[in-house]
Amino acid sequence: MSDCLFCKIAAGEIPSNKVYEDDLCYAFYDIAPQAPVHFLVIPKAHIASVSDVTEANSAVVAHIFTVISKLAKELGLESYRVVSNIGEQAGQSVFHLHFHVLSGRDMTWPPG
Ligand code: AMP
Repeated sequence: MSDCLFCKIAAGEIPSNKVYEDDLCYAFYDIAPQAPVHFLVIPKAHIASVSDVTEANSAVVAHIFTVISKLAKELGLESYRVVSNIGEQAGQSVFHLHFHVLSGRDMTWPPG
């Protein structure tokens, strides 16, 4: 989508602090980290949120989780949380599917 912030980040049109990239996904550190380690993993193709994941486009989601597992090992993360907010009430502010990976501090459950 031409006006999507994360599409522009994935395309390199807006700078970001890259963690990882391949043909299908892009990972970068969050600009407002909520934990000592906080990065986002996004599909390069525009999907607005988990609500728009279908049988036709879900392969990238499985791929993203293999990437998260690989990056967590490479970064030495022994305990971490993966979060995706869906909709404004849940805290979604960027409407391009993304998975937050947070680590490095104690976390509460349930989340606020
Ligand atoms: P959410 O609120 O779940 O939609 O998450 C969006 C996340 O994107 C927030 O944690 C923001 O801090 C982060 N964010 C917004 N703009 C940027 C940016 N330009 N670079 C990196 N992270 C960003």
